[in-house]
Amino acid sequence: MSGVFRPELLAGRVALVTGGGTGIGRGVAETLASLGADVAIASRKPAHLEPAADALRRHGTRVIAVETNVREPESARRAVERVTAELGRLDLLVNNAAGNFYAPTATLSPNAWRAVVETDLYGTFFCSQAAYPALRASGAGRVISISMTLHYRGWPQMAHATAAKAGVDALTRTLALEWAPDGIRVNAIAPGPIPTEGVKQAFTPPDAAAPDVFGMESYARRTIPGGRWGTPEDIGQMVAYLASPAGDWITGQIFVVDGGAWLAGGRE
Ligand code: NAP
Repeated sequence: MSGVFRPELLAGRVALVTGGGTGIGRGVAETLASLGADVAIASRKPAHLEPAADALRRHGTRVIAVETNVREPESARRAVERVTAELGRLDLLVNNAAGNFYAPTATLSPNAWRAVVETDLYGTFFCSQAAYPALRASGAGRVISISMTLHYRGWPQMAHATAAKAGVDALTRTLALEWAPDGIRVNAIAPGPIPTEGVKQAFTPPDAAAPDVFGMESYARRTIPGGRWGTPEDIGQMVAYLASPAGDWITGQIFVVDGGAWLAGGRE
């Protein structure tokens, strides 16, 4: 997708994107860097972070890779400290890191439940809280969390993720009100289906005979009114809009970016 924003839209701004080494997070980081922002990408695995950081540097802005586990509050705090120490400030936090897999609720282990809820919901909370002082100092801070739409109706075998993302939506509304006086705008984006490597693994149904729908463009044409799967750039463009001065009077909202997929309910 060619950018629709002016190239220097986010010059002078500093963004931290959790899970920024892969999939949607990488696409968001790419959009932000292409618009002039300095970008930190944070996740657990250097193998995800380093190649992405190298690729992002071609935009000419400063890019750092920060090894972080969002499930650990200390790790989130250290990540923000590194960003402000090395990039001088923090204006935008994108809470994108998440984990997911199909699992029947009857046999979902406590550890599996904890792993997803701690990554998606606790991680969003820990990173937001760690970023708060720097976002307040920014004067135009932004938190944008990546949610989902599956909890609007319910999604069998995704109790952990749907519960966690419902929590992310609630947290978004509460932080929006609580931090508005500090000039911080807090919103979420709920993407529709975007065939990243992560989602292809998570949504491989337990039934081996089930079709690989992500490999089927015709399936997307039939079931998504927008006529195609989403791309990480679709989400990046929405993040850019909310991060820009155009987002100054927008807070506490959850933006569904899905080509109408949720509304259509997968009907063919
Ligand atoms: P993905 O590539 O698997 O992204 C997940 C990222 O989170 C990875 O970069 C991973 O990096 C990071 N991560 C996982 N656990 C972490 C932890 N404890 N600490 C720090 N980082 C951690 O999948 P994706 O499809 O791009 O998903 C990105 C976001 O979009 C998620 O919030 C997901 O729920 C949401 N979403 C996706 C879709 C879709 O269709 N793709 C639809 C709706 C919502 P490491 O392994 O290096 O830690």
